[in-house]
Amino acid sequence: MNTTKIGWIGLGNMGIPMAEQLIKADYSVAVYNRSKAKETSLKEMGALVAATPKDLISQTAVLVLMVSDDVAIDQIFNGADGLFSADISDKIIINMSTVSPAISKEMAVLCKEKGGYYLDAPVSGSVKQAETGQLVIMVGGDITAFEQVKPILEKMGKMAVRLGDTGAGNVAKLAINSLLALYTQGLAETVTFANQQGIETVDLLNLINNGAIANIFTKIKGDAIIADNYKPAFALKHIVKDLNLAKAIGLASPLAKTALTTFEAASEKYGEEDLIAVIKQIKG
Ligand code: NAP
Repeated sequence: MNTTKIGWIGLGNMGIPMAEQLIKADYSVAVYNRSKAKETSLKEMGALVAATPKDLISQTAVLVLMVSDDVAIDQIFNGADGLFSADISDKIIINMSTVSPAISKEMAVLCKEKGGYYLDAPVSGSVKQAETGQLVIMVGGDITAFEQVKPILEKMGKMAVRLGDTGAGNVAKLAINSLLALYTQGLAETVTFANQQGIETVDLLNLINNGAIANIFTKIKGDAIIADNYKPAFALKHIVKDLNLAKAIGLASPLAKTALTTFEAASEKYGEEDLIAVIKQIKG
């Protein structure tokens, strides 16, 4: 068994398959999730369960966060029985959630004051890549802490790259997700246009996926459109969060503005569904 004890907070669509990779790699993993029911599958795989973030960090050397947003991060660090109510000296906290560079910088300073380390390490890829350990991980923060946890990150991703100081990973991730939003809206609009002109979705996607603009994204989301299956791998509400975070740090291009308007409108009806559910908004 790997000797490093790892704590994990956040067992959503991504957190569960990512934590599973660490258990499969023979790490000792302890978990905490706000909604207790989501802890069951990992407990069955051998993970320990902690009652609070404070209890969790007390028993682990490295702690990973994979939760929704800045609000969740603030509550986990600063809330009652949060991480900052424990002794975090020498602990390395890796925040893999997609959050603002600002909250990463705030938490990194506070962690350093308390003798711990904070790395922002968001991921590119979705549930499929998480299930196969093929995520792309982008990191900001202390170089020594990064080198120490790199072998752990490489159990979840096919690459883990440090881009610079705290927040650099978050900025890169927001840039990537702005492209994700544009791809998604572009695919949804293209399919809608073709349908309106009498071309079947299945025929159009067959052409796209065998042509020069094919990619993993058009394949996976194309299959979802054909199956009319909008079960969330990446919830639509999260792309609204990410576009707003990108806007807050300066993204103001015409396409990004249009995408934000489109996804915000779609989120009112389809926020809990996968982001490709935006096609229902566009068709509607
Ligand atoms: P998700 O399925 O919505 O899960 C969110 C997790 O955050 C749940 O464990 C939830 O706990 C927890 N959480 C939310 N608010 C909280 C709070 N105030 N206090 C404590 N825990 C809280 O999200 P996900 O798809 O796994 O994504 C997680 C992060 O990764 C997000 O930042 C997302 O943008 C990013 N991301 C997602 C994908 C993807 O394809 N899904 C890909 C790359 C990056 P409960 O179970 O109690 O609600």
